[in-house]
Amino acid sequence: MASTATDALLQQVHRIHDIGRALSVLSWDREVNMPKAGDSARVQQMTTLRQLLHQFATSDDYGAAIESAAAELDGLPEDDDRRCLVRVLRRDYDRSRKLPEAFVLELSRVGAAAWTVWKQAREDNDFSNFQPHLSHLVELQREMAGLYGYEQDPYDALLDGYEEGARAAQVGAVFAAVKAATVPLLEAIAERGRSIDDSLLHQPFPVAGQEAFARHVGAVVGYDFARGHLGTAVHPFATVFDRNDARITTRWYPDFLSPSLFGTLHECGHAMYEQGTAEALARTPLGRGCSSGIHESQSRMIENLVGRSRVFWRAHFPSLQAQFPQQLGQADAEAFYRAINKVQPSLIRVEADELTYNLHIILRFELEQAMLSGDLPAGDLPGAWRDGMQRLLGVAPPDDREGCLQDVHWSGASFGYFPTYALGNLHAAQMFEAALASDPGVGLDLAAGRTDALLGWLREQVHRHGRKFSPDTLIERATGRPLGHEAFVRYVTSKFSDLYGLA
Ligand code: ZN
Repeated sequence: MASTATDALLQQVHRIHDIGRALSVLSWDREVNMPKAGDSARVQQMTTLRQLLHQFATSDDYGAAIESAAAELDGLPEDDDRRCLVRVLRRDYDRSRKLPEAFVLELSRVGAAAWTVWKQAREDNDFSNFQPHLSHLVELQREMAGLYGYEQDPYDALLDGYEEGARAAQVGAVFAAVKAATVPLLEAIAERGRSIDDSLLHQPFPVAGQEAFARHVGAVVGYDFARGHLGTAVHPFATVFDRNDARITTRWYPDFLSPSLFGTLHECGHAMYEQGTAEALARTPLGRGCSSGIHESQSRMIENLVGRSRVFWRAHFPSLQAQFPQQLGQADAEAFYRAINKVQPSLIRVEADELTYNLHIILRFELEQAMLSGDLPAGDLPGAWRDGMQRLLGVAPPDDREGCLQDVHWSGASFGYFPTYALGNLHAAQMFEAALASDPGVGLDLAAGRTDALLGWLREQVHRHGRKFSPDTLIERATGRPLGHEAFVRYVTSKFSDLYGLA
């Protein structure tokens, strides 16, 4: 079909897309390869590209091109790729146009300074240095929410940037249900659960062996190394330059196996999502994950529902044992399964087990809402954090380094992001249940340690659509119902009751 306005729009879309991906390459290289001395030059290069990107993505010309194409495509089915593209372009364009350039620069300047101070404050365990920066960032976030606009809650305007259509009230209700089911389960485990020994994970594991196994297990779960790359980073992440170039990073602890193993599986889940987006969506904003929460569902699915399952390790523990005969020669798959699933209320979110993890998120969700509404002045954050940890997890941090200074998000001006981690867990459980119910082959495959049928379902229901649909639409199409807490609660209740002998 000759569609001149759409073709003209696509040219602009491709240009913006390519600049964005070039920025990602610079950023990936900065984290993985670049000598420290290159940093200031790199920041300049990235700033120039960012300015260019902002100019193109907010120009009147671009807005007009979107509207001309929209008029041309009117009447096509709602799930047509080009119509979905126009929907997403309009949304992104409107959001970027709402922030004046001066505000964007101010936020970036304040955020960069806050990040540097936060890093030092965390090292020195000194919240008081970070406090004025946090106050300033909260003010700017409030202003940003006003610029974006919202109906009820300023928090909604920020959350919407990561999870289209999500609202604080609805997320809060789902989280309350998760909390109501999780807390009694944790109490039961503490009171009458059998004890689990995870010392086999804490032994010297040579890094070369960890890397060899990471490559093996990544391929086993379906990450395509021919269209990927495994690198090393302090804070592991996945990054995508194209569906045929979706890279992951991980970190290696010489005497603890879990971070590299589960970090790799997690990032593989993210990258496999991007590798599975449809070719036709490439070089547009549709050729990427749907939202932060849906993205996290894919990483959590591979890391936890697959990678921490009993059936997976029944099939793959022998290969791990062959890699580490000295360390694991005497252990068996069941002992390993128990060790990697030990439940232990702890202080640090990124080290939390599957059951307590969401409680860490619920705390952050409550606190950032309170800061944004003005109910919680930044100076009262450390105390509120301690109280919240005590209330939700029964443990309190001895200092702020292990408390409110542990995460990078707020210092990086990301407010409203945290809930997407827990939403990812809920989406993952609901999708997993739906996949098992839709095709007996999924369960049979998993029982044999294979993910092909599961991956087939995910490709069909989730991956290939990229960002065509909103998260609500996607989960409803894939599972037949809106996102709820039920599947997750069923999953953890059954898994941990069995593991801890509560049934
Ligand atoms: Zn993730």
